[in-house]
Amino acid sequence: MKSTIQTDQKEVVGTPLQYLRGIGPKRAAVLQAQGLTTLEDLLQYYPRGYLDRSHIVRIVDLAFHIHNRTPVTVIAEVFRTETRRARTTNRMIFFLTVKDVSGYLTCVWFEGWQWYKDAFELGEILALSAIPTFDQYGRPQFVHPQFDRLKRVDEDEPDWGKLFNTGGIIPKYRSNAQLERVGLDSRGFRRVIRFAVAQYVPYVQETLPNELCRRLSLIPRSDALRAIHFPSSLEELEQAKRRLKFEELFFLQLLFAYRRAIVQRELRTVQYKSETLLPRLLIQSLPFTLTSAQKKVLHEIIADLRSPHPMNRLLQGDVGSGKTIVALLVALMAIDSGLQVAFMAPTEILAEQHYKTIRQFLSSLPVSVRLLIGGQRKKEREVLLEELSNGTAHLVVGTHALIEEGVKFHNLGLVIIDEQHRFGVLHRAMLKEKGTSPDVLVMTATPIPRTLAMTLYGDLDVSIIDELPSNRKPIRTAIRTEQDKPRVYAFVKEELHRGRQAYIVFPLIEESEKVDLKAATREFERLQKDVFPEFRVALLHGRMTTSNKDEVMERFKRGEYHILVATTVIEVGIDVPNATIMIIENAERFGLSQLHQLRGRVGRGTEQSYCILIANYEWYDKNRKGKDALELWNEKENARRRLETMVATTDGFKIAEVDLQLRGPGDIFGTRQSGMPALRVANLIEDRELLEIARAEAFQLVQNDPHLRQPEYQNVRSHFEKKYKEFLELGKIA
Ligand code: ADP
Ligand code: MG
Repeated sequence: MKSTIQTDQKEVVGTPLQYLRGIGPKRAAVLQAQGLTTLEDLLQYYPRGYLDRSHIVRIVDLAFHIHNRTPVTVIAEVFRTETRRARTTNRMIFFLTVKDVSGYLTCVWFEGWQWYKDAFELGEILALSAIPTFDQYGRPQFVHPQFDRLKRVDEDEPDWGKLFNTGGIIPKYRSNAQLERVGLDSRGFRRVIRFAVAQYVPYVQETLPNELCRRLSLIPRSDALRAIHFPSSLEELEQAKRRLKFEELFFLQLLFAYRRAIVQRELRTVQYKSETLLPRLLIQSLPFTLTSAQKKVLHEIIADLRSPHPMNRLLQGDVGSGKTIVALLVALMAIDSGLQVAFMAPTEILAEQHYKTIRQFLSSLPVSVRLLIGGQRKKEREVLLEELSNGTAHLVVGTHALIEEGVKFHNLGLVIIDEQHRFGVLHRAMLKEKGTSPDVLVMTATPIPRTLAMTLYGDLDVSIIDELPSNRKPIRTAIRTEQDKPRVYAFVKEELHRGRQAYIVFPLIEESEKVDLKAATREFERLQKDVFPEFRVALLHGRMTTSNKDEVMERFKRGEYHILVATTVIEVGIDVPNATIMIIENAERFGLSQLHQLRGRVGRGTEQSYCILIANYEWYDKNRKGKDALELWNEKENARRRLETMVATTDGFKIAEVDLQLRGPGDIFGTRQSGMPALRVANLIEDRELLEIARAEAFQLVQNDPHLRQPEYQNVRSHFEKKYKEFLELGKIA
């Protein structure tokens, strides 16, 4: 076998995989298609899990492990498979019976019998892992176990009968059909990675300062890379993970530290008058007084405006906490000082809503407010662009249309971005580019705890409105099913008779917008004709023209409609205090923060409000799209947890945390556009403690030696340049 790996340290990592023992051109091509081209890629193809032989138990001993509530592994042979219909629920259940030398064990799948019924061969050897439970007869069973197929004799998996004497931890690797075709199933990977580890590990370069590793008890990189694949004990595996996680988090925070440093090098060009009149006038005209949380964040913002550097602040606050008014007050300070303000919202509906609210708030003040969205008439648009570039327009509310090339400002001093999570770093940067170092305020209604926000958003300062206006009553939330609908409708009627209004929301999924829209339209007709004939029902959806949408919204606001049937276009921002009922159809299909946003549309007045989630979990069975049973089951469980979380709490911070757990932070920062490198081992939620240490260390390092000139930082520097610098460039425009 060819083995032409160069031994020059720098070159080794970049060695194309085809030169590695056990790979060759054919496998290399398949690996490349999966995004693995170099030795380093392969070494960072971390196991998806481990088969821990030290947790292997005999079937006869399972009963002793039940009270531990921890997963155990059984190595056993397939004895029988069976699919039965459950008498009570009428659903198909799949049973797998396996045996080892000590006895028989039944495994149960409540999902996916179609897939499992042909998945096993009699006599096949499996490693099955699960938390054992008792079945209805008091016998141990596995529900939805994870499993691996073992071969009877193999260098890695010796004769299964002898396994009890072997011990050891075996890595499991992700594979797929293409990879399996060239022999790269989990076992195949294990073999080539074993070669890679042997070849490469002696040349692995350290990326962290020695002093840091010593102080934090981090094992060397080379040891960690070996041990994450082939740990000799669970303790060693933990140390390897900790080391590699720390490295990822450290470099991530280093990236943020540099972004922050760049921002702080930037000097303020935008100057504010110290005494401003417009904000004062607005405050005097408000029908309410600001909450102390609103005042607190205003002070934090004002301090930024007086600092020698431009503001870069994230304003967090739950739905309905009153972020808009805070942003507006800041906008007025800018306008009073002769600056223009751009206010960007993620959707047209929301932009229009902000536009209208702001115009109402400012009706008696000499401020010219404009709206810029796509699809406006050419003439109208030209006039508007002219007003922006000559400075006669003071405040412009808009969508992405604001960052288009033709949009020029006379003197843009403040950029406000609503619903940060919908925009990436790039959008923020592009809007900022329209001015000369303007101040930036981003707002989000997906609040997360401050420490986490700081580490996630890295280069932004964080302000939190942690208090709702005092006139709010907590919304009552309940989960109902299709069968409960008649009762739900009866309840809605009662409320309508008492003069309230209701929303009924349908999910829209982009891939099949037309189909969904048709469903919503049909439901709307049915609701008007058959269910609520004595009331006025209106339909609102994203395909309507702007003026149609406006008209429907306006009339709903005025109380001319009792019920608004809508697709999720009402998700953000809309404000009708008399609407007290929110019914969400197919609630299982919505994300948690979306549900929270939707619920935030009610409970805005003084009346008791209600949110009713109609759950239809079977939807997941019908739309499984080739997912395997475990995935499907997980999806459904997640959906259940989302809805139960909604019932359990109205606290946006708690909801956001569960949301992060369920979706994984990858979802939030998934795209490169977000300006975050992907994390391979670390998890921003689970590893929060490590994250905070990494952050402190990284920021300290940049403060001590910004250019990483000291010899002991050379490895940090070269790793950063190789892997992270491109993301810094992305941040630089920000
Ligand atoms: P969000 O933070 O979700 O964007 P909004 O800014 O839309 O919330 O505010 C929600 C509603 O609360 C609006 O009708 C707004 O006028 C009102 N509001 C804002 N601040 C207060 C306050 N201090 N007291 C009472 N109502 C307020
Ligand atoms: Mg808002």
